[in-house]
Amino acid sequence: VLIGSLLIYRSVKNWSSELNQMSEEIRTLDDGNRNQLSIPEQPIEMKEVAMAFNELLHNKEASIEREKQFITDASHDLKTPIAAIRGHVQLIQRRGESHPEIIPKSLSFIDSESQRLEKLSRQLLELNKGRDELKLEEISLSQLVREEVEKSHSIHLREFDTKIENDVTLVGIRSELQQVVQNLIENAIKYSKAETKTTVILETRDNNIYLEIADEGIGISDTDKPHIFERFYRADTSRTSKVEGSGVGLSIVKKNVEYYGGSIKVEDNHPQGSKFIVLLPR
Ligand code: ADP
Repeated sequence: VLIGSLLIYRSVKNWSSELNQMSEEIRTLDDGNRNQLSIPEQPIEMKEVAMAFNELLHNKEASIEREKQFITDASHDLKTPIAAIRGHVQLIQRRGESHPEIIPKSLSFIDSESQRLEKLSRQLLELNKGRDELKLEEISLSQLVREEVEKSHSIHLREFDTKIENDVTLVGIRSELQQVVQNLIENAIKYSKAETKTTVILETRDNNIYLEIADEGIGISDTDKPHIFERFYRADTSRTSKVEGSGVGLSIVKKNVEYYGGSIKVEDNHPQGSKFIVLLPR
């Protein structure tokens, strides 16, 4: 009993001194010099706790870094149209009276820039919005996709080639699924010429719902493909071709698709353009 008590006393002492040291380290982590706990070799349980803690710290740091980047990108994208609007307001103030012919042009510029701002702030809210599970309902994707195609057809007067299976349904949130279809169709139209055709396919394949939206437009290079779903990423071709956009649409699409345990990928469309494929588990 005596020897046993001594052994227990020694190991408890060891443990508690390691634990004390670890909690002291955790308390001083915030002083900015260190961002990792030192990992004790023994006892093995403490080593594992320290390693798990370091991993958690690393993930938190990465997520804070991403948020910072997001705020920098968002404020940059908000600042640009605001500066443009202010520029035109000042132009009207300075020269409006002597050159009234500049007013309609400036007003139309202010109007389009403020619409861009409105859209961007809506998208930013969308990106950070939580989900309202209460609005879950059974949705006819067949009908939703048909409605979106018809809407775009009547607004943009574009030709569509559709193959939409009847009665494809999914339990979900209507506005989220609408955004997926709308953004993909909008991009197909934005990044292609007016006389080209957009193909939309909706069908069930094995245990998945398969949605394909393909265009005959400018296409996406292999270097851009892995990045286009990142927030604020725009391929250089889109910037230089002066197509309006903020690089946020596809990140909303990806986020929404992932809510349903689904996936999205982009491929080349042959002979020309891009093909977006969304798979949603049924
Ligand atoms: P936005 O279109 O507002 O720039 P998105 O997030 O919707 O933002 O798209 C990100 C980028 O991916 C676009 O800027 C464009 O470079 C590229 N892209 C998206 N869809 C297409 C498409 N159908 N054809 C060619 N490029 C595309």
